Amino acid sequence: MRERIDIAVVGAGAAGLMAAIQAARAGARVVAFDGARRLGLKILVAGGGRCNVTHERVDERDFCGSTRPAIRKVLSRFGVAETVGFFRGLGVELKREETGKLFPVSDDAGRVLGALLGECARLGVELRFPCRVSGVSAAEGGFVLADEGGESRARRVILATGGKALPKSGSDGGGYAIAQALGHSITPRVFPALVPLTLSDEPIGAMLKGLSGVSCDATLEVRSGTGKRLERWTGAVLCAHFGLSGPAPMNISRHLAAARADDPGARLVIDWAPGHTPDSIAGALVAAGGASVLVVLRAWVPERLAGGICGVAGVAPGTVARSVPREARRRLATLVAEMPVPVTGDRGFAFAECTAGGVPLSELRLDTLESRVCPGLHLCGEVLDVDGRIGGFNFQWAWASGFVAGRGAGRSALGSGPLAGA
Ligand SMILES: Cc1cc2nc3c(=O)[nH]c(=O)nc-3n(C[C@H](O)[C@H](O)[C@H](O)COP(=O)(O)OP(=O)(O)OC[C@H]3O[C@@H](n4cnc5c(N)ncnc54)[C@H](O)[C@@H]3O)c2cc1C
Repeated sequence: MRERIDIAVVGAGAAGLMAAIQAARAGARVVAFDGARRLGLKILVAGGGRCNVTHERVDERDFCGSTRPAIRKVLSRFGVAETVGFFRGLGVELKREETGKLFPVSDDAGRVLGALLGECARLGVELRFPCRVSGVSAAEGGFVLADEGGESRARRVILATGGKALPKSGSDGGGYAIAQALGHSITPRVFPALVPLTLSDEPIGAMLKGLSGVSCDATLEVRSGTGKRLERWTGAVLCAHFGLSGPAPMNISRHLAAARADDPGARLVIDWAPGHTPDSIAGALVAAGGASVLVVLRAWVPERLAGGICGVAGVAPGTVARSVPREARRRLATLVAEMPVPVTGDRGFAFAECTAGGVPLSELRLDTLESRVCPGLHLCGEVLDVDGRIGGFNFQWAWASGFVAGRGAGRSALGSGPLAGA
């Protein structure tokens, strides 16, 4: 047995670092283990290297997974104002952008990571990396953690191993097995969220893939096999060589995957002219006087996409709009206002920004995020069954849940008796 620790944090990403800081501020001796060679890679790459730390307004409706009341309860313990104050206290001022996203004024994610690591150092948190924890078992008075260097004993463990998104960062889903071995369940489905979509080579898919680099706003809808609208997102869509990327496709990706798991007929439809219907588009074509189809369509979509839509509809772009035969007009109008997109799947965890699924919040005490099935174990961050939309929401979940778990574990560790064998 190597040593005895008050609190072992497994995983030193956003949630684990916050938990370690809070536990140490409560007075506990904290050691954080991380399997990655480089700490905090996800913080460094977030927001294109600028780190979208949080959003000006965050509530439970910005998230999926578990239940909304449970998510609200955790978020309410450490809100946006607390996040701003916390980082200000560490010397990192945040600024609000037009979209409501908050970034460090330096536009430098390195400052966010540096502040967290600096505070860990100030508080005496020991960061052990690369040091992958291969197993955690409950023992009298605490836990035994196994890693390649041996075994450590801790009064309490905070599991902050993240999900499976961006596995090269060290988050490869190994934490789920640790949670399961300690008695937890994992949701039946764990799948990529905030992930680009791949398209088939059918005419519409091939056309969109051929427009790599084209971007515009659109409304995306997930519809059931019977045509019922299940989910809707409006935002930027970026055509890419593999399919669709950008905020709207990424935000809707988890809803499409979830719908298809239950209903293989579920599909994605894009409205490139939000507020219009196929009828109103067809009407605009008829009313366009001598203008060409391309000129009419350019009112709603970029020229290259307008040309692609004409190609799929089998209408020459230079055709005078009002002279397009009724059937072809209907095809054009449907492609603009209700394009059926042949989605084959997504780019997987390697390109996902988040993980849907994980340990259900119902298995935890929400005031401390302590396990109900394994006392002394706390969980936080993306390992839990909570995933947010794009905009700083996933980090806010990491900060809030890390705060609750760290503070809960810190206070309890100091209140409990000596470790078995200590
Ligand atoms: C490219 C990209 C960009 C993103 N941009 C943003 C953004 O701008 N804003 C936002 O809000 N969210 C963003 N996210 C999401 C956000 O980064 C995550 O939701 C958040 O980092 C999750 O924090 P976490 O601490 O729970 O998990 P992680 O950050 O995944 O950290 C988990 C840590 O645990 C370690 N670990 C795993 N298993 C073990 C083990 N067995 N032993 C030891 N260590 C282990 C891993 O090495 C890792 O360091 C982005 C994600 C990606 C991939």
